[in-house]
Amino acid sequence: MDRLEPRLEYYLRRAREINELKMKRWMSHPGYRVGIMGGTFDPIHYGHLVAADTVRHEFNMNSVIFVPAGHPPHKNAYRITAAEHRYNMAVLATESNPCFWVSRVEVDRPGPSYTVDTMRYFRRELGNRYELYFITGADALLEIFNWKDISELMQLCYFIAVTRPGYDLLQLREQAAHSRELLDRVRVLEVPALSISSTDIRWRFSQQKPIRYLLPEKVEEYINCYKLYSLPH
Ligand code: NAP
Repeated sequence: MDRLEPRLEYYLRRAREINELKMKRWMSHPGYRVGIMGGTFDPIHYGHLVAADTVRHEFNMNSVIFVPAGHPPHKNAYRITAAEHRYNMAVLATESNPCFWVSRVEVDRPGPSYTVDTMRYFRRELGNRYELYFITGADALLEIFNWKDISELMQLCYFIAVTRPGYDLLQLREQAAHSRELLDRVRVLEVPALSISSTDIRWRFSQQKPIRYLLPEKVEEYINCYKLYSLPH
């Protein structure tokens, strides 16, 4: 990785230290319900942050842990930004919220990032006393029956599908209807801010269109510094 401009390098170092402290504090008081926000986050934006905050409030959670996918198993075709960059952007974006922190579990684990491995990891860390909630976009959950070890995954956690208003839930309901177990395990939450999307942000960067107010300023600076999305993705 090239060197960052000194001011941003300082911010990033500080944000990573704060993230470490938040993680340590969380380990001693995880709260009964644990929200685990999975996504590629390429890049993270305000839609993700508002969705995590809404879930935390609605489901009465202490914290939400952001888990950037290290090597998404289903995305061979499109050029994904390096996991370390996506992790750094998530750390910068969540720095100011004491209830959010970012886990490196998928960034550091070699091989494809299967959600079941991540949930096994958190279950091992925490034991059986806690309820785990895997939070992600409803579109991503549409494919859930193709995910690795889905029967075990359904035993390990609940799922929260976050959607934008007006999203057609029919497909997700049809999927869930195949399995009583899944129906019991999926909750859906509408989040207006999710009309922001990473795909649109990447396109805007490549076309030099404005992206201000769609994602945190430090994340915007980081992207500009590394020219992450100057070519169309
Ligand atoms: P994706 O296919 O890139 O995303 C589909 C849609 O969901 C996009 O509109 C995306 O919007 C949205 N989305 C994704 N994550 C979100 C989040 N946390 N909050 C709100 N919206 C979100 O999905 P993905 O990001 O690659 O995967 C989502 C999660 O599912 C990841 O944790 C991934 O590891 C997991 N997954 C696991 C398996 C498996 O275990 N086999 C297979 C597939 C996915 P944005 O582009 O704006 O984020």
